[in-house]
Amino acid sequence: MENIDRFGRRITYLRLSVTDRCNFRCIYCMPASGVEWRPHADILRYEEIVRIVRAATAIGIRKIRLTGGEPLVREGIVDLVQEISRIPGIDELVMTTNGALLPLYADRLAAAGLDRVNISLDTLRPERFQWITRIGRLEDTLAGLYAAREAGLSPIKLNAVVMRGINDDEVVDLARKTREGFGVRFIEPMPVGKPDTNLKGRFVSGEEIRARIERELGPLIPVRDEGPARVYRISGAPGEIGFITALSAPFCDRCNRMRVTADGKLRPCLLSPVEIDLKGALRAGAGDEEILALLKEGMRRKPYAHGLAHEFPHDRTMSEIGG
Ligand code: SAM
Ligand code: SF4
Repeated sequence: MENIDRFGRRITYLRLSVTDRCNFRCIYCMPASGVEWRPHADILRYEEIVRIVRAATAIGIRKIRLTGGEPLVREGIVDLVQEISRIPGIDELVMTTNGALLPLYADRLAAAGLDRVNISLDTLRPERFQWITRIGRLEDTLAGLYAAREAGLSPIKLNAVVMRGINDDEVVDLARKTREGFGVRFIEPMPVGKPDTNLKGRFVSGEEIRARIERELGPLIPVRDEGPARVYRISGAPGEIGFITALSAPFCDRCNRMRVTADGKLRPCLLSPVEIDLKGALRAGAGDEEILALLKEGMRRKPYAHGLAHEFPHDRTMSEIGG
C-alpha cells in the first residue's frame, strides 16, 4: 500500500498550517511580542495548497485539518474550504481554531463543506482566558463555540492545554462540558518553539488529570484510542474526553499524520526538524508527479521519534508548524 510507512503506520491525515499569523498570543505558543510574521510571498497560496491536497490523495491521505496560526484570520479561507471539500478522496475536512471569529464564519464554513471544528479553550474564567491568550476574550470564543454548534460543525472538540498553577484547577469543570455534548481534549504542554513563558514546572500528566476527574466525577469509561488520543467518557455524558500525552506516553506507534507548514514545508513529524520543500518545488514549476514524489519521500523519512520526546523542536513555533 502507498500509505504504509516503514514502521507499518498508515498515513491518512495531513495537517495544513494556512497561516503563521494569529489574533491571540497564547503563552504556551508565542512570545508576548508575537513572532515576526512571514511575508505574504513566503506563505503557500491557496492554489498551491489545493495542488498539494490533490497529490496527497494519491498517497492515501483522506483527512485534512486546516490549522495555523489562526486559520480564520486568513482572507478567503471559506473559498479554500470549498475547494478542498470538492477534491475527490478527501473524506474529512476539519479545522482547529481559537473560535473567536466563528460567530462570523461558522455558517459559511459549514455551507462550504467543513465537517467540524476543534476549538482551543483552556479555561472557563474570563480573566484567566485573557491572561493565557494575552489578547482574547472568553465571551468571543464561547460565542464561537455555540455558533459552530448551531451551524452543525459537530461533534466539536475543545482543546485544553493544562498547566500547573495556571488552569489545572479547572480540569473537572472542563470535563463537565462533555455533558453538553462537547468533546474535550486535555493536552500536555509541549516545550515547542520559544514561548517566553517558562513551561518548566507547569507540566501536568494526562494520568494526573484523569485521576483528578475520576475523584470528582467517577470512573472514566474507556472508549477507544484515536490517533494520539486515548478516549474516555464520563458515565451518562454524550461528549468524549481525550488525553494527548506527548511527553508522558508518546504515541509514535499510532501516528497517522504529516504536516505542511505555513511556508510550504512538508514536515513528516512534529518532533523532528526534517522538512521537505514543497513550495520551492511548486514555484520552480514542479508537475503533479514531482509533488507526489516529494510526499512519498516525506512518508519514507517519517521517523519513529519516541526517543526524541525530551527534545522538542525549537526551530519553529507551533503556530508556524500547525499545532
Ligand atoms: N489557532 C488555532 C488554535 O489555537 O486552536 C490553531 C493553531 S494552534 C497552534 C493548534 C493547537 O496547538 C491548539 O489547540 C493549541 O492549544 C495547541 N498548542 C499550541 N502550543 C502548544 C504547546 N506548546 N503545547 C501543547 N499544545 C500547544
Ligand atoms: Fe494563536 Fe492558536 Fe497559538 Fe493561541 S495556540 S497563539 S490561538 S495559534
